[in-house]
Amino acid sequence: MRTRINATWIVGHSGGQHQLIRDGVLVYEGNKIVHVGKRFAGRVDKTIDATGKLVAPGFIDTHVHSGHRASHRLITDTGRPLYFGQPFLEISVPKEGKVVKGDPRYLKHGDAGVEAAFHLNASFTVAELLRNGVTTFIEYGSQLRVQDSLLAEVTRLGIRAYLAPGYDCGRWVGDEKGRLKRVRDDAMGLTGLETALQWIEMHDGAAGGRVRGILVPREVETSSVELLTRTRTAADERKLPVATHAAYSVLEFHDVVREHMMTPIELLDDIDLLRPTLNIGHGNFIADNLNLNYSAARDLALMGSARATISHCPINIVRRARTLDNWKKYQEAGVNISIGSDTYPRDMIMNMRTASYLGKIMSHTYFAATAGEVFRAATLGGATSVGRDDLGRLAPGALADIIIIDLSGRNSLRYGPVRDPVKSVVECGVGDDVDTVIIDGKMCMEGGIIPGVDFSKLREQAQAAGEQVWDTLAEWDPLGRTAEKACPWSFPLAD
Ligand SMILES: [Zn+2]
Repeated sequence: MRTRINATWIVGHSGGQHQLIRDGVLVYEGNKIVHVGKRFAGRVDKTIDATGKLVAPGFIDTHVHSGHRASHRLITDTGRPLYFGQPFLEISVPKEGKVVKGDPRYLKHGDAGVEAAFHLNASFTVAELLRNGVTTFIEYGSQLRVQDSLLAEVTRLGIRAYLAPGYDCGRWVGDEKGRLKRVRDDAMGLTGLETALQWIEMHDGAAGGRVRGILVPREVETSSVELLTRTRTAADERKLPVATHAAYSVLEFHDVVREHMMTPIELLDDIDLLRPTLNIGHGNFIADNLNLNYSAARDLALMGSARATISHCPINIVRRARTLDNWKKYQEAGVNISIGSDTYPRDMIMNMRTASYLGKIMSHTYFAATAGEVFRAATLGGATSVGRDDLGRLAPGALADIIIIDLSGRNSLRYGPVRDPVKSVVECGVGDDVDTVIIDGKMCMEGGIIPGVDFSKLREQAQAAGEQVWDTLAEWDPLGRTAEKACPWSFPLAD
């Protein structure tokens, strides 16, 4: 079956970079792109009309924590300053002996409602990503059963994903005074790596090759040197990409410097893990960041010479009063910048806009973090992070992972006159403007509708799950706070 898309604009790919094609034609056959250009004379079986639309490579979201992220709603405009803006310390560290309620990522086997919760977690994640034009995502180390349910939804709904259970040598809890305390268990980390490798052995290549494995030691400071070293060996032997949170938090930076007498990036370099297929989340608190006041910084040079990847999650960190310092220097050093959503909403267009605007501010020049650069990060940057030259681009031979973006802003005036479609999308677009999603040559969303997904039902279920997260906060919060106490309403709530 050969399909032709006639479009007002196409982001094609030639000579190693994206290029704009006005009034172009894209042809795909099976799961591969066979032609991108100004005209095509060959026979086709089906034609899609994308007049007034932009045909682009699907987005690659390099930082997804599965679920509806209801807990993240508890830190909007607030938090505990002693965590220096690090979200997971705020909303996923329970009082010792308790578990975080309402989020299946932390549920134990046999908990009430668990199957439904895991299913909702996976359905909501995959449907939200598809709705926003994400054709490939990287899950950042949720536990085994989250991966199992994601695998089922990825198979059913047609998205492409890098999955496997994450692992670490111990989590944080809150002690009797609510202070952070790490429960260290090095053996658990090694068992976790084995579990991940078995999971990958079993599922790598599933769903017609759309599911691939990735090794995720969750954070550098919660991973032993032995665990990271074994991860590197396994990655080398099995040609697997790796993702880990590193240089992402002030506390983590100091903990690693104190324990290892190296910065987190120097530690990763010492273990020989710095490489394009190492996805460093978020890599913003590197020694070169002036806010850390670290002398003789060489992190940026190390990351750049290894062409290591960062998953930059602009919306997530800007909500915590932080950002990437600075886009231009990372680019010039040779760091491969990719973009991740991390938090809600999983809107890559909003993330590109945030990356661009803050990138300009932090680089002190409007020539930095251009629409082209952030678009490249959201497509090719992600592909590089998983070692793929057949993703993130529309060129003959590449996989047919294609999105169509409606440049009328779904019949609004938001876009105004469009001169450059990529600049217009980055500046005026939202994820909802994605009209059509094709993955592996198959139609996964058409006219904003995903077959097999009922948005109103998903919203209703996610709302109920959210209410449970918010209502039960006092049961596990290290300070025993209610949601009202932890996160006051924007305006006083009337009786
Ligand atoms: Zn993360």
